[in-house]
Amino acid sequence: MTYLFNDPTKFANELVEGLVAAHSSRLFRVDGGVIRRHKAKPGQVVLVIGGGSGHYPAFGGFVGSGMAHGAAMGNIFAAPSAQQICNVAQAVNSGGGILFCYGNYAGDVLNFNQAQERLRALGVDVRTVVVTDDTASAPFSEKHKRRGIAGTLPVFKAAAVAADSGKSLDDVFRIATAANDRVRTLGVAFSGCTLPGAEKPLFEVEIGKMEVGMGIHGEPGLYRLDATTADGLAALLVDKLLAEIPAVISSPKGARIGVIFNGLGAIKYEELFVVYRKIDQLLSARGLIIAEPEVGELITSFDMAGVSLTLFWMNDELEQTWIAAVDTPAFRRGNVTPSSGEAVDTTALKNPHQLNTGSKQSQAVAAVVFAAFEAAWQVIDKNQDELGRLDAIAGDGDHGIGMHRGLTAAVTAAKEALVAKAGAGTLLKVSGDAWSDQAGGTSGALWGVILRELGDVLGDEARPSTSAIAAGTAAALRGVTDLGKAQTGDKTMIDVLHPFAAALACGASRGLSIPDAWAAATIIADEAAQATARLLPKIGRARLHAEKSIDSPDPGAISMALIIRSVGEVLTERCS
Ligand code: ADP
Ligand code: MG
Repeated sequence: MTYLFNDPTKFANELVEGLVAAHSSRLFRVDGGVIRRHKAKPGQVVLVIGGGSGHYPAFGGFVGSGMAHGAAMGNIFAAPSAQQICNVAQAVNSGGGILFCYGNYAGDVLNFNQAQERLRALGVDVRTVVVTDDTASAPFSEKHKRRGIAGTLPVFKAAAVAADSGKSLDDVFRIATAANDRVRTLGVAFSGCTLPGAEKPLFEVEIGKMEVGMGIHGEPGLYRLDATTADGLAALLVDKLLAEIPAVISSPKGARIGVIFNGLGAIKYEELFVVYRKIDQLLSARGLIIAEPEVGELITSFDMAGVSLTLFWMNDELEQTWIAAVDTPAFRRGNVTPSSGEAVDTTALKNPHQLNTGSKQSQAVAAVVFAAFEAAWQVIDKNQDELGRLDAIAGDGDHGIGMHRGLTAAVTAAKEALVAKAGAGTLLKVSGDAWSDQAGGTSGALWGVILRELGDVLGDEARPSTSAIAAGTAAALRGVTDLGKAQTGDKTMIDVLHPFAAALACGASRGLSIPDAWAAATIIADEAAQATARLLPKIGRARLHAEKSIDSPDPGAISMALIIRSVGEVLTERCS
């Protein structure tokens, strides 16, 4: 249960404000996250981390000397948008290149990749290390598919120490990659978490059971066991992790390891220490040498009752980074020399939108598009809970909230564009930016692309024909495929967008009016959305629990079909 909040939709924003107020000697707030108060040395590499909010100390609590230079902070459990990441990255860029480092979640990968492309196009050298320490989320043979949890900490630290010591981007990348190769985590949960304003937990664990390998967004665990004693749990975690010692470690006897015993939100420190006592005994009995263990809350999931154990199998170089001094809001160790860098000037970082005035015709079209956004908002508002329920079956349950947040931002941006007499193309593009910026997550990034592509094709001059709408939808489909890499049949929104685009093209070639072509394509979109129930998810969060989603349609496909239908009603009313 989250007891203290104001407006739940402002929770993430307000927590960043408070974090910065409490740590004003260390942190600065920028649009999209927080950065170190003092500038990095000119020409050095900087480390940008990030992820959804709700996991404190990850990620804003890990910004400061000896750790990240900046953290992009998304909404609750939603990846930060590409724009947020770019803002943070540009604020800390010191000219020596940027390393992006974050946990492996589809939404984060999508948005960080987009940000990386944008920054590279501006001539900034950006590399990425995605952390994959969660042993429960895929077999070792598919380590690149594993999620990132508490093992992000030693990887961040390795990258940051290397960057601050003046190493090249290649070296920082190599060291962070080595750290990720050598870190393993396993977690268990005893209860779910309740997000601010929610009436019930996002997911539940049966009383007396524990879910082994449950994800930090409530992604279901891999199996359920009877809850055990503190010592029993210590033995389970140690045994499982010692069954996967990295191949570079010739023998565990005498190996030096960093250890993190992490609480996920609702476990008392006292309980953590009772379990850690046994973990220490078991690891020591195997001849392992523990260096600087960390017991406490390092990556959490609101009030989820759970713990995770991380083993970091170090070499000499990595051990130096693990024991190095650090001074961040949530993680401090040793004595850090006060920074001599000057304070960052954030006034230069504002990036106001350019609103192009449209032709008279295009302004009239913009008014119809605005009405379409309002209709879409209404249908998502009505179906928000159901979309969340569908997403919780195999994903993380945030699809309804995310779509609602995105559309709310899109409607506000569209309204501003309308008042500024923007054309339809510009209105679509600024709304798309606002959507992806506020919604975060996978679907936020993809809807941003859809609206931007559509806006590009429609432009700010002409009154669009049915062919132009069909061409815009085809461009949107290409954009979504390029960014998200899903194909037809993977159980995603593509399974609706693809047949919908084809049906619109068919309507255009038959000479149908926009409302008629749209209405015919809506029937196809509805059927396609329902038909996703029979598919197995092959991409995104739902992939891990594919079989659980058989017989339920894909949430992103359903929300798209709902939006298509509501937009069609506006088109019939306004364009006939
Ligand atoms: P997240 O997965 O980040 O929690 P949402 O829950 O808002 O984001 O959206 C989930 C939906 O996004 C899925 O139901 C699916 O339709 C869509 N989706 C996920 N990954 C992809 C992808 N790679 N390509 C296209 N659509 C995707
Ligand atoms: Mg989701």
